[in-house]
Amino acid sequence: MAIGFLSTAMGRITVCGVLVLLAPASLHGDEPSPVRTESTKLRALLTEATRQSPTISALVDRIRASNVIAHIECQHFQSFILKGRTFFLSAKATVRYVRVQIDCMQSRQELVEIIGHELQHVSEIAAAADVVDRRSFAHLLNAIGRPNGGAENEGYETEAALLAEEQVGREVTGRGGSSTQLVRLTGLTDTPSH
Ligand SMILES: [Zn+2]
Repeated sequence: MAIGFLSTAMGRITVCGVLVLLAPASLHGDEPSPVRTESTKLRALLTEATRQSPTISALVDRIRASNVIAHIECQHFQSFILKGRTFFLSAKATVRYVRVQIDCMQSRQELVEIIGHELQHVSEIAAAADVVDRRSFAHLLNAIGRPNGGAENEGYETEAALLAEEQVGREVTGRGGSSTQLVRLTGLTDTPSH
């Protein structure tokens, strides 16, 4: 059972993304990135978004300064309103693994915004060194997040993630993001329901 942040958009029909196995992405030359993906689409997008968005660049640096490694993957969600989610995966002695799943069948603008949103969640985990398992992650969610949408324990959201998404939207387009369309679900979930 994993616990996650969920991000959703009302009215979107999703199609399963295609995963292409490649070497983990590196956003800073040969230096291993703490934000990794096996998706060619996400890899290119991450590189470009990190260059275009100071917010995303700062979030990657913040994650890099921690012992968190985030893997981002395209994911088909059964829920058509779900856009992305972040959940704690596992912890070893010197590294903690976080997984981010994103509905890749969105516009580039939406994808960059939701990446910024989810990377903020990753940075929240990175900043909480005591998050090492499901229980401690749940404690963090209760401390910094608020239940949002759906049934109890289905999700948590943080204001910082919403702000990060809006900020990324402004940085990439020079105007406001598309977050006004979004309905957020956050919080506690079981393993992906798909
Ligand atoms: Zn969120």
